[in-house]
Amino acid sequence: MRDDESKPREPWRITEPELDEPSPHAWVAGRVWRQRRQWSRFIFEDERAGGDIFGRGEDSARAIPVTPELFARAPVMPVPPEEPVPPEGSLEEQQARLRETHEVGAEWPPDRWPVCCRRLAVLTLVNPTAAELTAWEWRRRPLTLETLDDARYEGMLRRALEDVRADRLPYMSFNVFQCHACGRVHVRLAKYPKMAPSK
Ligand SMILES: [Zn+2]
Repeated sequence: MRDDESKPREPWRITEPELDEPSPHAWVAGRVWRQRRQWSRFIFEDERAGGDIFGRGEDSARAIPVTPELFARAPVMPVPPEEPVPPEGSLEEQQARLRETHEVGAEWPPDRWPVCCRRLAVLTLVNPTAAELTAWEWRRRPLTLETLDDARYEGMLRRALEDVRADRLPYMSFNVFQCHACGRVHVRLAKYPKMAPSK
């Protein structure tokens, strides 16, 4: 099944993709792209969000450079060799790429998109299920709390990881990015509590 290519894709028009459909963006992993376009997955996300995700786009995504502190802290993991490396560029160029990125989040408005090694980190997992997380870790290493950008929320990530691994609806959704230039893994919570100052 294919979209009608004569029209621009609306963020909320989601169809079942062909199983080998490639991602149109080097900064969105192929399996994330395919997952985003499955109705079954969309319904799953919608339930998590309380039926509130229709119509959300990705306009708010901000390219946020990984600071030297976070660069030193983030674990380095193997990069699947078949995955492309996103292009290098200025922060403005990366922000422009995000503006043209098709919808990939659902419950998750990707507010903070890490820029590592002057490239957009690749979105490799969105609100993973237990099976998706296991498959991801099989090719890399287990996710740890050092991947998070703000240590104040490590408890939230710990609890979310416990929930996902136990196959429960997670306490907090999160998204996993990996820099395909250096292999560093950067986790961002889907929704930061309102009291958190914006970085
Ligand atoms: Zn990097």
